[in-house]
Amino acid sequence: MAEREIPFRDRAIETASRAEIERVQLAGLKRQIAQALKTDFYRGRLASAGISSPDDIRTLADIRKLPFTTKGDLREAYPFGLLAVPKEEVVRVHASSGTTGTPTVIYLTQRDLDVASDTMARSLAAAGGTRHDVVQNMMTYGLFTGGLCFHYGAELLGAMVIPTSSGNTLRQLKFMKDFGTTMIHATPSYLLHLHAAIEEEGYRREDLKLRMAITGAEPHSEELRQKIQDKLGIEVYNCYGMSELNGPGVAFECVFRKGMHVWEDRYIFELLNPETFEPVPEGETGELVVTILCRDAMPLIRYRTRDLTRFIPEPCPCGRTHRRIARFTGRTDDMLIINGVNVFPSQIEEVLLKAKGVGANYFIIVEKEGVLDKLTVQVEITPETFADDARVINALRDRLKSEMSALITINPIVEIKQPGSLPVSEGKAKRVDDRRPKD
Ligand code: AMP
Ligand code: ZN
Repeated sequence: MAEREIPFRDRAIETASRAEIERVQLAGLKRQIAQALKTDFYRGRLASAGISSPDDIRTLADIRKLPFTTKGDLREAYPFGLLAVPKEEVVRVHASSGTTGTPTVIYLTQRDLDVASDTMARSLAAAGGTRHDVVQNMMTYGLFTGGLCFHYGAELLGAMVIPTSSGNTLRQLKFMKDFGTTMIHATPSYLLHLHAAIEEEGYRREDLKLRMAITGAEPHSEELRQKIQDKLGIEVYNCYGMSELNGPGVAFECVFRKGMHVWEDRYIFELLNPETFEPVPEGETGELVVTILCRDAMPLIRYRTRDLTRFIPEPCPCGRTHRRIARFTGRTDDMLIINGVNVFPSQIEEVLLKAKGVGANYFIIVEKEGVLDKLTVQVEITPETFADDARVINALRDRLKSEMSALITINPIVEIKQPGSLPVSEGKAKRVDDRRPKD
């Protein structure tokens, strides 16, 4: 590694002193407060916290006076409760993966989009991406930010971007070969699937110019990274982001691949104890709470990501001064990430509660099948339905399956169960068994 030149997109800000970063953060925070005060959603909340002007923020420590924002709040503010600019200034809307009745959306002005793309481009540059790369984006295009937001960043870097989107593995491989793709963006599970297809289709290493992959959208271990690197013979970089924070590239690995740098000139990152909301001691695990400093259209203050991680205290050998976070170890809520898509058990419950003929008990199982995740929903039906003929039961199964996939955007397997056959838990019901190996 020592002989390798360390790439930067904007060396001055990426290696700025702590004092300089804090100066930028304070100015950014005041600017965001000014924006937040223009929204219906924050005006009242900030007033209750004693903030009626950006000047009420004097130091960065004042962030602790500010209220938190949750996913539920974003749903409540849907569609335009968080809009801080005239509607005609908005040029783009995105939403979180996995849709529920009310999605969590973000909106961006042209400037917001330019800054978000620059953050993404900076991330890719930190990992050694350049304008010579041919980048194939295998994340789903559409409302999900992994498609377009990544795409714009890679274009800004000057790379040749191929928006193949997700799925259709044989076509992915054809494009990789014919266009000499050097970098791909995909979930870790899809990378394993792609590798299996490469072997099956008989592609040789020299048929492909692939040198690196950017991976994120779902938790994965260091061991899994290693496995993908070994199998594909490439470097794999971890990338963290979420739609609420403009998508991928919020935190990104540099060429040393030892934790992800968080871009502190564009976001303020706090790690808090999820029960007391006090900052955790340096190096300990806490919930990542993020304040966005770079969005005019939709300010977001102290957003509870529910993702658990820790800061890596040692400075990074790359010379960047923006801190690093370790791999995520879990979440503080029950959200499941299934093949990269966010799924809440409550969404599944919602379908079941509405359906006629369904009993009181259900059970969700998540497993690995090959390299992909498999979701099974076991459903008890009522004694009356159970007594009905097989056609009625099959029709019920098909209906539940299609209603669930419409709501959660992935296809579950629905298993119909006899009344009283699923275990009844004492106390708090345990309705999810995540059997996926932890590494
Ligand atoms: P979405 O808003 O659909 O992009 O989903 C965001 C969520 O995906 C985050 O809150 C994380 O739980 C998860 N996620 C994204 N990137 C990573 C990553 N690199 N490692 C672990 N989890 C991730
Ligand atoms: Zn570094």
